[in-house]
Amino acid sequence: MSLAEKVPQALQAKIDKIIDNVTPSPWLNQVEKADYIAKIKALLIEKNAVLIAHYYVDDDIQALAETTGGYVSDSLDMANFGAQHKAEKLVVCGVRFMGETAKILSPEKTVIMPTLEAECSLDLGCPIDEFSAFCDQYPDHEVVVYANTSVEVKARADWIVTSSNAIQIIEHLMAEGKKIIWGPDRHLGQYINNQTGANMVLWQGYCVVHDEFKLNELELLMAQYPDAEVLVHPESPEGVIAKADFVGSTKQIIAAGQRSEAKTLIIATDHGLFYKMSQVVPDKRLIPAPTGDKSATCKSCAHCPWMAMNTLINLYEALRDESSVIEVNEAVRQKALIPLNRMLTFSHQQGILTAGDA
Ligand code: SF4
Repeated sequence: MSLAEKVPQALQAKIDKIIDNVTPSPWLNQVEKADYIAKIKALLIEKNAVLIAHYYVDDDIQALAETTGGYVSDSLDMANFGAQHKAEKLVVCGVRFMGETAKILSPEKTVIMPTLEAECSLDLGCPIDEFSAFCDQYPDHEVVVYANTSVEVKARADWIVTSSNAIQIIEHLMAEGKKIIWGPDRHLGQYINNQTGANMVLWQGYCVVHDEFKLNELELLMAQYPDAEVLVHPESPEGVIAKADFVGSTKQIIAAGQRSEAKTLIIATDHGLFYKMSQVVPDKRLIPAPTGDKSATCKSCAHCPWMAMNTLINLYEALRDESSVIEVNEAVRQKALIPLNRMLTFSHQQGILTAGDA
């Protein structure tokens, strides 16, 4: 078994344990919710801070970002927004690598997160020492990593890509005759290999949410809604992707939904996206793709356990106390900036959207 296969498997127990220990967030009644929202709004002004949320966090937090002059998007777009905003503090609601990406682009700003325990299975499944040893086995390969990685893994890479620009960047490298290592998401890597014929060497990480989408159940759902269009995030398994009318990043899925003439959309990504999707296409029926098979009581539980750790309560407390602050080693940040800027420059030259991640 190769290192690329061994490490993610060995980390499975660790990932399971972390998920087992996720504390369910306390339920807030409407009065309590309104109270937290009012307090957070006041603190954002008092502390010259802006709220930046990922599509997968709870609706209340996305709504709060929108109504306070903040932003809701995917990780790189979130980081770009933060870098261009005049606020001194960025309050990033999402998972840790998103806070780190914001810090890479805004080293002079304080980046606060509701909790630093919100992880990502792709990031956890690609530790720097093992990934670096894996890369060392292929010294003549370009190292291309996805945005969902730690700052250390980004610093080890030649290129950082997002799900919006990965195919163009890989085709560019192929045209230059480069051999390529891809990490960490195996499904996205396989999708790119299939689309481009790149034959990249794949690290075998995966997203615990997208990996759960079930082909058989999807086929049954499609039979039930034959006119529905199927929109799939490329971190999903190959068989599920094969059923898609459209494959793309979160931002691209929203745009595809907007363009679609279908009245019903079946969507294979974290159901946090439905908040934004329902704003954009209020007249369409949105159905989450199935994650559970016949014996499951839940047909689709597609929600990231770490995104769910962002709550109004810990958001308020972190902002009040200025705790859960992202720190990034400056030398590592400088190294990570190189492949990140390489991607931004390439995408800018090619007129490609740079946003896109889980
Ligand atoms: S949804 Fe998947 S890729 Fe996104 S943060 Fe959660 S585990 Fe990571």
